[in-house]
This record gives sequence, structure tokens and C-alpha cells, in this order.
Amino acid sequence: MRLELLVSTKSTREIKTGVWSQFQPVFANALSPCIGACPLSIDIPAIYNLCLRGNWRDAAIELLRYNPLPFITGRVCPQFCRTQCNRGDLDEPVSIRTVECYLGDVVLEEDLFPPVSSFSSKRVAIIGSGPAGLSAAWYLSLYGCKVTIFEEMDHPGGVLYWGIPVFRLEKLYLNKAIERLERLGVDFKVGHKVLPDELEPLKKEYDAIIAAVGLTKSRSLPIRGFEHAISGVELLRRYNRGALELKRGRAVVIGGGNVAVDAARVLVKSGCSVTVVCVEKGDEMPAIPEELEEARREGIVVKDSTAVLAIDKQDGGYVLELAPCRVVGERDGLKEVEIVGDPECLKADYVVAAVGQEAEFSWDAFSCGDVVNGPTTVAEAIAHGRNIAFLLLGLQEPLPIRKRNEVVTYDVLNTAYFSKASAIVKISSKGDVLNEIARCFSCGYCNGCGVCWLFCPDVAIIIDDGCLLEVDAEHCKGCGICAQECPRHVVVMEKRF
Ligand code: SF4
Ligand code: SF4
Ligand code: SF4
Repeated sequence: MRLELLVSTKSTREIKTGVWSQFQPVFANALSPCIGACPLSIDIPAIYNLCLRGNWRDAAIELLRYNPLPFITGRVCPQFCRTQCNRGDLDEPVSIRTVECYLGDVVLEEDLFPPVSSFSSKRVAIIGSGPAGLSAAWYLSLYGCKVTIFEEMDHPGGVLYWGIPVFRLEKLYLNKAIERLERLGVDFKVGHKVLPDELEPLKKEYDAIIAAVGLTKSRSLPIRGFEHAISGVELLRRYNRGALELKRGRAVVIGGGNVAVDAARVLVKSGCSVTVVCVEKGDEMPAIPEELEEARREGIVVKDSTAVLAIDKQDGGYVLELAPCRVVGERDGLKEVEIVGDPECLKADYVVAAVGQEAEFSWDAFSCGDVVNGPTTVAEAIAHGRNIAFLLLGLQEPLPIRKRNEVVTYDVLNTAYFSKASAIVKISSKGDVLNEIARCFSCGYCNGCGVCWLFCPDVAIIIDDGCLLEVDAEHCKGCGICAQECPRHVVVMEKRF
């Protein structure tokens, strides 16, 4: 039998393989887990993509759309994003906060601002100048509102000023944030404590009032001698104002949250030997894990799952009665515990209590930040401020635009395209940033890598320099290779009929 080779004499463009295909690829960005975990929903892969293309200014301005204070969160955020980063399943998560810090510094160095509009002419008073208040003021001013912030202390910033010790956040960054807001027209009235009965006159003067007052009143424990303890908040206030005078000695800090750990670190830096006593188990302490780790490295001893039963004065110092415990519940913001062992004594020269804070007043106004949500982080407070500002403006908050709501997990990525590389934790040059950004998988976000285009046997993918992808339906035969090959799970196959 004679076999004849069938040879097509026409270009493949004329063979419309797409006519009989039952499936077609859909190119649709989905959610990266880092975005879902970030309280500000920062579009991390989109921003990285701009950096990789050399558009640093655009990347920094895009970051400002989500976060007015990246030069602050880049230094103090507990990195919710990083905990969910898919790269962690291959080697180490991307150092997202470090990159954010770098871009935040680009914002400051290049004095970048997003465009300002005259969308609204509302006069808005904000009570409290912590991160939630600053964030609300930023977005409202960008949209044309005339904002006045009332701050009871003699310096704006709230917790950024009095709460976060200078070894975690240099005051320079807060001052830059304030100066940038002033340039947007925000008027800071410091040393003015607004009381709830001042609301009525303020309501006549302003179109809206926002209470972003935070939690300034320290909670107390119902135990004997609690009055001997200095409040953690007060200790941080004094330290940050340069008014903390301590002699070396033994200090005990009661509490397992961020204020407790910050206070403990201040005490250790002041020469004290410090024990933190908390009712939670070590891995359940609410403090930022990194800060806790740092505190331990500095020599702070943590006595977890331990309740303080009493504080007594003795020989010019204090004796604390402690007992092993386990947490059995929570009432009114305080942990309820069951004592599970015999009491012991611990001597101290200083006792500091950081067992939570509460609002001083209730407010009949738009409220945001800790006063609404309880103690939160700086990033969460900024998110609340942004949220209330957009609510007032009647506009949609900035959120990443995605066609698919699906969160792209590690198991659906095509990791054949990624090789192991250690994270760059300390970034000292643009090259370091680029190398770290290159570690990002860009989960669910098309970065125009061209893998799909390269593998398509029918040359049916039209790609341009950006991320615009189109399928030539006449020629796509629906083989699904593009969906299989896409490293980032951007392509999914759909049935045509
Ligand atoms: S690899 Fe990149 S896109 Fe994916 S979760 Fe991590 S930072 Fe986000
Ligand atoms: S690889 Fe090409 S032919 Fe195959 S489904 Fe994708 S676009 Fe269509
Ligand atoms: S393979 Fe690359 S270019 Fe193609 S869809 Fe995926 S990310 Fe985009």
C-alpha cells in the first residue's frame, strides 16, 4: 500500500481549528492570598509588576491608593500578608513588608501624592489623630474635604506618637505623615480634648464628625494590690516623651499583648531585668510574634499560662502571688482563667500592667479604629479610617480589581517555573528589591510572562507588553495547554457549548 503524506499548503491562520473546539480558555485574574490577608487589601502582585517594569513611581502611587502610610506600616505591620504568602510553601514567604517599606521611602524621597480632586466640599472634624484618624483625614482631603483633627495630646499621632517605642518606629516617619497631611490642607488642633458634650456645637460647625479616639483608658484586674501597678500605656507615654525615669531593677509586666511586650522592651532597654507574666499560652499571646521573639532575644523572660493573684508591697518593692492557669473564657474583654497549680511568689521593683484598654467615652458620631473594633494593629486602624472616609464620601473603597473571587492557593500554581531562593530580609538597594519581588509567584495575577503564548500550538494567544491577553477564538482548539502551563493559575478552561 502506498502512503501519501498529506501536506497543507496553507498558513495555519487559514485553518480555523477553533470552529470545532468545545472549550476555550478564559484569562481572568484571581485573588492572591496575600491580598486577602492584608487588612488594606493592597494589590501586591500588581504593584510588584509595575516595579519589575521599572515604573517605581507608579508602583509607589498605586501603593498610596490603598495605604497612605506605607513608610509606617512598612516598619511596624505584623505582616498578615506574609503569613499567607504561597511562596512560604516552596521556601520562604516574600518579604512583603520590607518591599513596602522601600516603596514607602520612595514616596517620601520623591514626595509623591495621588491626584487630588474636588469631589466633595464637606467640612469634617476628626476626633483623634491615631492611624485611623490620619487615614480618614488623608482620603477625605484627597477628595476635597476640609478636615480638622482634634488631638488631646500636644503632638498628633495617637498611638504612633505615644504608644510605639522609638526603637520600633522613629518619630521622623510620623512627622513626615503629619507634614504631608498638612500640605493636603488638614488642620491639626493639638492639646484639645474633645468631650462628648462638645459634639453638639461641633455638629453645627462641621458637616460630619468622626470619632477616631482609640482606647486610652487602661483596664484593671480585680486583684488585691492592683493599684501598685503602673499602666503599660502610661509607661510608654512617659518613655516616648522622654520623661521615664527608672533605676535598674527587677520589673514584672502583666499582660501578653503588644503594649505589654513594648513596655517590657522599654524596661529591658532601661536596664531592668524583665519578666512578662500572662495568662495565655506562649503561642497564643496576642502580641506580634516578631516583637515577642525580639523581646526574648533581648533577655525578657515570659511566664505564660500564669495568673497574677495579688500584688503586695514588701521591703520597698513588691511581691506578686502567681499561679499556673488556663484560659476558660472571656468576659468584658478580660480573660477568665482557672487556676491549675500551686501559687508561687515573684519579687519585683516595678510592676507594670498592660491587660487591655477601653474607650474613655461613648460617641454619638461616625466612629472608626480601636474604639469600634477593640485593640487592633496600625494597618487595621488605617483600614478602618479609609473605610469610614469612603462611607462618608459615598464612594467605593479602593480594592484590587479581579474577575475571579477565587483565592489562588499553592496547589493550583504551576511551580515547575519557580526555583528555590532565600528571602532577602534586609533590603539595601533597588537590586535587592527587584530580586525579592522576582521571588513573588504573582499568584492569580497575569504579569505578562508569555508562557501561555509560547506554548499555544495554534498561535491563538494575543499578548502585548502589558497583561492584556486575548484569545483568537477562530484558532484556539481548546486543548488547555495554556491553562496547564500558566504558572499563576490565571487561565481557566470554560465549556463553550
Ligand atoms: S507569592 Fe506573591 S502574589 Fe503570591 S502570595 Fe506571595 S506575595 Fe502574594
Ligand atoms: S493553548 Fe492555545 S489552542 Fe490551546 S486552549 Fe490555550 S489558547 Fe487555545
Ligand atoms: S502564562 Fe503568563 S502571560 Fe499567560 S496568563 Fe499566565 S501569567 Fe499571564
